[in-house]
Amino acid sequence: MNRRNRTMSFVWVLLVLAAHMWGRGFGPVAWVLLGLQFLVYPHVAYFVAVRSKNQMRTEFGNMLLDGLMFGIWMAALRFPLWPSYTLFICAAINMTVFRGAAGALLAAAVIACGTLLGAAVFGVHTEPATGPLTTSLSIATLSLYLLVVAKDAYARSLMLFQTRQQLRAKMEEVLALQQRLQEQSTQDPLTGLFNRRYLVEAMERELSRCARAGLPLSILLVDIDHFKRINDAFGHQSGDAVIVHLAQLLRQHARAGDVVCRYGGEEFLLLCPEMPQAAALERAQQYRTSLAAQPLQVGDASIPMTLSAGVATFPEHGDSAEALIRSADEALYRAKGLGRNRVELAGLSG
Ligand code: GH3
Ligand code: MG
Ligand code: MG
Repeated sequence: MNRRNRTMSFVWVLLVLAAHMWGRGFGPVAWVLLGLQFLVYPHVAYFVAVRSKNQMRTEFGNMLLDGLMFGIWMAALRFPLWPSYTLFICAAINMTVFRGAAGALLAAAVIACGTLLGAAVFGVHTEPATGPLTTSLSIATLSLYLLVVAKDAYARSLMLFQTRQQLRAKMEEVLALQQRLQEQSTQDPLTGLFNRRYLVEAMERELSRCARAGLPLSILLVDIDHFKRINDAFGHQSGDAVIVHLAQLLRQHARAGDVVCRYGGEEFLLLCPEMPQAAALERAQQYRTSLAAQPLQVGDASIPMTLSAGVATFPEHGDSAEALIRSADEALYRAKGLGRNRVELAGLSG
């Protein structure tokens, strides 16, 4: 951007200065210097900058050099008003774009140094008047320069806007991914129920909450009866459908605060905070009768199934997660031993 701007603006300035120098008796050396300064130097400055390790710093050095030489040209040409103003404001704007207000002050400082240097070499003379051609060219140069700077500012803000949009889209992607990972780490993929890892956390939390508040907490450990037979008779996929079927039934009748979890293959655990033993037993019976009454239809086949459940309640059957689960498991084992399709309550602990 800077190479294009410097090369172009230097050509315009060359035209301004040439118009002013024309007919004022400048010798060939002055014209050669003018050509070197405004046609050759911009390319040299660019090549120095691209080869530099710190391109921005070198380019800023180039801008300081631009200002210094502009000052020398002003003094050498005896401070013609319009060309001098054009040189000054172009250098100041350029440096302001890069360094803000400090850039403008620096531009003024280096131009002042240039004019002092020029005055030392060429003497102090002032001839501010310019001809109509020089004046018109100066105004045209200034206008063009300002328009180019405005266009660049627009391009920069457009780029910034697009970058921000892309960044926002990426952020949303990352957040969605994070949420999915979070869900995956607490959910069972087949049923969408919570997994065992989540249950352990939730149970510790709810147990201490209920203990503090002096409230009961019940757990229901539910296992499908003779599930191996279902797998064998109807296939593994139908077995999966049975697991999903029971998961839906369990979730359907759960309260808002209950945690329904797939505890193992075809084993489920319901954590019911604030639920006393009698209500838990009733709920387990409700699940048992509902499942038995709703065989799953898979294609033409109707898959009958029953469940057994063990119920344990805090504080009667244990005061820790492990003790409660152990009690519920013992009750479930008893239910299986007593012929399945039944609900058993845990024995008193201790
Ligand atoms: P019981 O009445 O004593 O519970 O008999 P059961 O046949 O249900 O015995 P058990 O609970 O030990 O059976 C678990 C079987 O479930 C063993 C395994 O092949 C099957 N299983 C475990 N996970 C899955 C699963 O994700 N999908 C399917 N289709 N089967 C599973
Ligand atoms: Mg089973
Ligand atoms: Mg089992």
